[in-house]
Amino acid sequence: MVSIKNEYKSFLDDIEKNIKNKEDLEYIKKRFADFLDVVLEKMDYILDYKEEEMNKLEEKQNQIEAKMAKMQKIIDNIENDIYSEDGYDFEITCPYCNYEFIIDVDETKTEVQCPECKNMIELDWNEGEDDLPNNSRDYNDEDDDM
Ligand SMILES: [Zn+2]
Repeated sequence: MVSIKNEYKSFLDDIEKNIKNKEDLEYIKKRFADFLDVVLEKMDYILDYKEEEMNKLEEKQNQIEAKMAKMQKIIDNIENDIYSEDGYDFEITCPYCNYEFIIDVDETKTEVQCPECKNMIELDWNEGEDDLPNNSRDYNDEDDDM
């Protein structure tokens, strides 16, 4: 930033060099000093205003960041939902010791060792698809007729 003090000094040097009439020079100096007061006052006002604006901006920025964090959380949750719905993780309850643990879905695996009691647990990947509603009875009746 250009130093106002230096600029002011160079301005005074310049007018002193170029304005030969001493009365004119004093008048301009005084007039300029008055002008400078107003400018500086306005500048203070502008700086205050800017600071206020900056604070507002910062506040807004914080709000945006908070929103972003919230969004990230939601996205993370959605990811988790997708993962669990697709069954990438499979929750197992050990039938021997009731220890609960999570394994990755791998349908080629038919059994898994319980990390707690070390017993081998048989895996049934189709669990949950068996409990169809009981109204498939009609279909069975037709079978009886045959
Ligand atoms: Zn176990």
